[in-house]
Amino acid sequence: MAWINQSQIESRKYRCGYCGNIVATDKGFYDKDRAFRAYLCPHCNKPSFFDASGNQTPGIAPGNDVSSLPKELETIYNEARRCVAVNAFTAAVLACRKLLMHIAVEQKAEPGKSFIFYVEYLANNGYVPPNGKGWVDHIRKKGNEATHEIVLMSAEDAVELISFSEMLLKFIYEFPARVPTK
Ligand SMILES: [Zn+2]
Repeated sequence: MAWINQSQIESRKYRCGYCGNIVATDKGFYDKDRAFRAYLCPHCNKPSFFDASGNQTPGIAPGNDVSSLPKELETIYNEARRCVAVNAFTAAVLACRKLLMHIAVEQKAEPGKSFIFYVEYLANNGYVPPNGKGWVDHIRKKGNEATHEIVLMSAEDAVELISFSEMLLKFIYEFPARVPTK
């Protein structure tokens, strides 16, 4: 893919919202006031837009890829990460909760319980490392709203829950898969 009329512009270093690489480039496009710029990623060649305040679109999905995940879990985990990239924080939190509930049930928790029940289940059954207790308390506090309430979540809430989910997914799926079984 070759872009037409690309210019040399002020160099910028950023993490590409498409391919996730940290890149630096001076190739792209600008408006006549030079307030808005679009940079072309040297890695994947897709354009990222920066407004006058430096806000980047598409945004960056937090967290890291986790390998050896069952397909559904991989899909919902990555969906949660992409929600954050488009500022859909409440949707990201809901996707993470769904993910954690699913993991717990897969690890033999009783189905049909509340989100908090499953977080406690994972913690009480050794899926959370000893110094991860603070996380569990924090998530319990955050996730304790009644089911009929809509509580809007912040970027911070979403990123925290994604980190927690990533850790659990690595412990439960990725690391065990790295050890060859006899
Ligand atoms: Zn890229």
